[in-house]
Amino acid sequence: MNLDAFTVLVGVGAAAFLLGLLSLVVWIIYGFTRAIFTKKGRQEAREMSAANSAYYERLKCPACRSKISIDATRCPYCTTMIDR
Ligand SMILES: [Zn+2]
Repeated sequence: MNLDAFTVLVGVGAAAFLLGLLSLVVWIIYGFTRAIFTKKGRQEAREMSAANSAYYERLKCPACRSKISIDATRCPYCTTMIDR
């Protein structure tokens, strides 16, 4: 058996393997990009972000330390007026 021919064969095999791996990575990146940039993907991202900000945009009542809406003028738990 010719060793040089074997080496070339292994090289071609490795190159084909790497090419397949590369195309798989590109396909995965394409999928993520599509999910982010399509209308549905963007809408889902916006909804998630809105839900997150609605949750985190809260402040603590200075009197009872309950979490209340950032727009509140009066605490719903202890009825303390919130001045701003
Ligand atoms: Zn309160």
